Amino acid sequence: MKIIMLGAPGAGKGTQAKMIAEKYGIPHISTGDIFRANIKEGTPLGKEAKGYMDKGQLVPDELTVKILLDRVAKDDCKNGYVLDGFPRTIPQAEVLDKALTELNDKVDFAIDVDVPDENIVKRMGGRRACVTCGATYHIEHVPPKKEGICDKCGSELILRDDDKPETVQKRLSVYHEQTQPLIEYYTKKNILKTVDGTVDMMDVFKAITDILG
Ligand code: ADP
Ligand code: AMP
Repeated sequence: MKIIMLGAPGAGKGTQAKMIAEKYGIPHISTGDIFRANIKEGTPLGKEAKGYMDKGQLVPDELTVKILLDRVAKDDCKNGYVLDGFPRTIPQAEVLDKALTELNDKVDFAIDVDVPDENIVKRMGGRRACVTCGATYHIEHVPPKKEGICDKCGSELILRDDDKPETVQKRLSVYHEQTQPLIEYYTKKNILKTVDGTVDMMDVFKAITDILG
């Protein structure tokens, strides 16, 4: 099963994608996580990506598409995957479709986690991410057991540089301009499913599993 998560930054794509990956036994692939791992390791890709990410802009398609296609070609992707944060532009979606068509394959579901902008700004300010394993928390909605410490690996939790309020506004406008057109793109392909992302995360997950079966 090949699944794409759509939605504004902070809509809960990553939260849901991790649960989907676990339930269906497929890898969770987040281009944002791949970039952040590269930044942490100080690779040339990380250095280039950071400049865009810190400004709330998208990393250019050429760079992003390459890392995604390399990742989905790996063995663990044979039975499918859930993509979180990719595609974010129409050209990215077209490249993915082309690569899958060449393999006689296709995306099965594009799930739009729908959350209005007003809720997003609050969510991002409260998001905390683990510096080591990438687990995410929310200081009100999904708090860790011990403040500032990851439940899963014991490392420090931080506010991502790009979750600062000024950058969140920029990311939201980039989302509306460049990523939202994908909703129409996947609607036309008859694979778009929309879920209400403002409810409790377990209720969002129930709505998603009702769709995926
Ligand atoms: P995205 O991957 O779309 O950027 P995340 O999954 O990281 O979003 O979620 C953004 C923030 O909102 C996180 O702090 C997360 O813990 C919190 N969150 C996710 N889903 C919900 C929900 N249904 N209700 C409240 N908070 C949520
Ligand atoms: P995310 O973790 O999905 O919120 O992504 C964090 C940041 O990484 C985004 O704001 C972009 O700068 C960059 N990024 C992640 N995925 C993509 C993508 N598919 N295309 C372009 N930039 C991306």
